[in-house]
Amino acid sequence: MVCNSPVGSTVAKLDEPLRKALGDRTAKVMAEGLDLHTVGDLLCHYPRRYAERGELTDLSGLVEGEHVTVMAEVLKVQGRTITKRPGYLLEVTVTDGRGELMLTFFGKKASYKPEKELPPGTRALFAGKVTFFRTRQGVKKQLTHPDYRPVAVSAVSGASGSGMSEAAREFVEELIPVYPATKGLESWKITDCVKMILDTVDIGTDPMPEPILRDHGFIRLREAYDGIHRPKDFAELSRARKRLKWDEAFLLQLALARRRRAAGALPAKARPRAEDGLLREFDRRLPFTLTEGQLSVGEEIAAELAREHPMHRLLQGDVGSGKTMCALRAMLQVVDSGGQAALLAPTEVLAQQHYRSITGMLGPLGQAGQLGGADRATRVALLTGSQGAKARRAALLDAASGAAGIVVGTHALLQEHVQFADLGLVVVDEQHRFGVEQRDALREKVAGGRPHVLVMTATPIPRTVAMTVFGDLDTSVLNQLPAGRAEIKTHVVPPEKPGFLHRAWERIREEAAQGRQTYIVCPRIGEQEGDEGDVEPKDDEGERRPPLAVLDLLPSLAEEHLSGLRIGVLHGKLHPDEKDAVMRRFAAGELDVLLATTVIEVGVDVPNATVMMIMDADRFGVSQLHQLRGRVGRGNLPGLCLLVTEAPEGTKIRERLAAVASTTDGFELSRLDLEQRREGDVLGVAQAGRASSLKLLTLLRDEDVILRARQAAAAVVAADPDLTHSPGLAAELAALLDDERAEYLEKA
Ligand code: ADP
Ligand code: MG
Repeated sequence: MVCNSPVGSTVAKLDEPLRKALGDRTAKVMAEGLDLHTVGDLLCHYPRRYAERGELTDLSGLVEGEHVTVMAEVLKVQGRTITKRPGYLLEVTVTDGRGELMLTFFGKKASYKPEKELPPGTRALFAGKVTFFRTRQGVKKQLTHPDYRPVAVSAVSGASGSGMSEAAREFVEELIPVYPATKGLESWKITDCVKMILDTVDIGTDPMPEPILRDHGFIRLREAYDGIHRPKDFAELSRARKRLKWDEAFLLQLALARRRRAAGALPAKARPRAEDGLLREFDRRLPFTLTEGQLSVGEEIAAELAREHPMHRLLQGDVGSGKTMCALRAMLQVVDSGGQAALLAPTEVLAQQHYRSITGMLGPLGQAGQLGGADRATRVALLTGSQGAKARRAALLDAASGAAGIVVGTHALLQEHVQFADLGLVVVDEQHRFGVEQRDALREKVAGGRPHVLVMTATPIPRTVAMTVFGDLDTSVLNQLPAGRAEIKTHVVPPEKPGFLHRAWERIREEAAQGRQTYIVCPRIGEQEGDEGDVEPKDDEGERRPPLAVLDLLPSLAEEHLSGLRIGVLHGKLHPDEKDAVMRRFAAGELDVLLATTVIEVGVDVPNATVMMIMDADRFGVSQLHQLRGRVGRGNLPGLCLLVTEAPEGTKIRERLAAVASTTDGFELSRLDLEQRREGDVLGVAQAGRASSLKLLTLLRDEDVILRARQAAAAVVAADPDLTHSPGLAAELAALLDDERAEYLEKA
């Protein structure tokens, strides 16, 4: 397939369908194989990398099954007639100077095309799917019937100048773009199409405002497209990438800045701090002093609640830094001003836990209407999906009548029939499990205004993620743990040291003898379907046995390793009442060991628990391990975390576990976690569509770009909220948001 424009040399616009510019056949392959539909889409289909003319691709890096484009040199050509199947087999061996790759072609008769076109010494781009086959000499790599394009190697490079012929220019250009290709459309065919588009496209005025281009020294968009698709040298490429990366970061931040502004401009009821109220009384009764961070974040939140526009704040902090305490104090301020607060938790277990700990912390202050309740006491209601009809009715009534100042719940809170008398604050705990839509669903429960919103993350997230995924929120950070926190020691219990595991069981028995408690976590429940599939079996290294299951481990604990100890079992499939009962017994010290799945991952708070033993620890992500570890060392007793694994020494998995063992700094670990995920995963979960707009920008490496883009975007929105003076930007933004919406709808 060749890129012959059926319409000759008319000028192409960015929103023109590729069909018109490239013809039906090519456009169809591009749409189906690469999801490219317009001229603009194709211009944003950037090369994956660049082959340097004269430089060969390292063949040792080829992965079985991958579709690749490699630059290599023909070493030898061997053709023979085969008898089994009438025909001709041509084997071409190519090399990168070290390793070899076999290309096989089948033809009808001797000496067919590839044999003529690929004499030894030829350098060419070869594209196809890599297969491995095993021989006595070892593993051989092969491409069957690859597509290829011979490449001229320049003897005198560097010759340049104007008036050069097209062929000469191509010859001199050192960098050959290698595109993400697809079946039926090889990288070099994409190169041809892009070239044709670049030669005829009119991209209109540069959408980026002139002052921004000047201040940051960016090249123009038109130049940038040329520079990324057909760079003369790395310097040109780098200028192009710099500009295009900026556009990604800037547009994203512009969208977020506008969202922040729009949300902040909405009316909300002010909930100022009362001189003499529940919060005052609560602070007076606190058995400890608040940390400096809690105090300053508290002031920040208090001031925002007192404004007549809704607060939209993200509260970040490491496990155990006291976020929930901050949230409770904010809720009390709202209750004092006559409003209600809702606390939205991601799981049933966590909602119950919050309910227990909030009622516990409030004591008489939360017992309005009960014997022993304090004078200005309020009431706390719990609303979950599976509670009994009677409890549910009571909770719904308390929420609707306003009798409950605080309503704790799961997704059940979002349902339509749940009503509040005067909802003033929504606290979303452990946000990563909720989408933006759900936050909005709660906001809509407030007539004639918006509630204030406080979002808490389970573990810290890197600043760049906060600025993008949660970029429509302002951020507060608690970066210090309450004083007197005991240390948590973490050990990897590896397969090469069986004695460690033996010792681990012993330690758990010793802790129990002293009245301390242990969590043991497994990745699975043990019933086949509907398992808590929250683990990440990503970096699989070949076949592995299925992950350990709670129900499979239980007998050996009860009868062997921990016989005589009181063991409770907790997992997502238990009836909610049963879950609650088990948690209560564990919290009350009636159980020595809680054998559980990750249902205990977030928020569970039993200060007397000192050991966290994680089975098949390699099946969990870094943040998950850190979160689980945060379940111990919560009081003043030192904690012990045991990461049990069968992963062999020296593997990536073991490095990850060693990293978790080496630090308890959640901010450091969150960075590590991000490095191990694909960016799309990070962005994709929280906000549909976001990922698709980021091609060059990476959250980890481009902190500087993101920061500058955030500042520049805020300035633009402050000066010109509706972008009336930057029609180009307004159009780009509209297109971006459209894509986002489209993608969101597809997923829904
Ligand atoms: P997070 O939600 O950030 O994980 P929590 O708010 O649940 O942390 O606090 C963890 C534990 O520390 C709770 O038992 C809480 O009562 C206690 N705590 C909170 N703030 C302080 C403080 N300033 N001093 C001592 N203990 C605190
Ligand atoms: Mg918490």
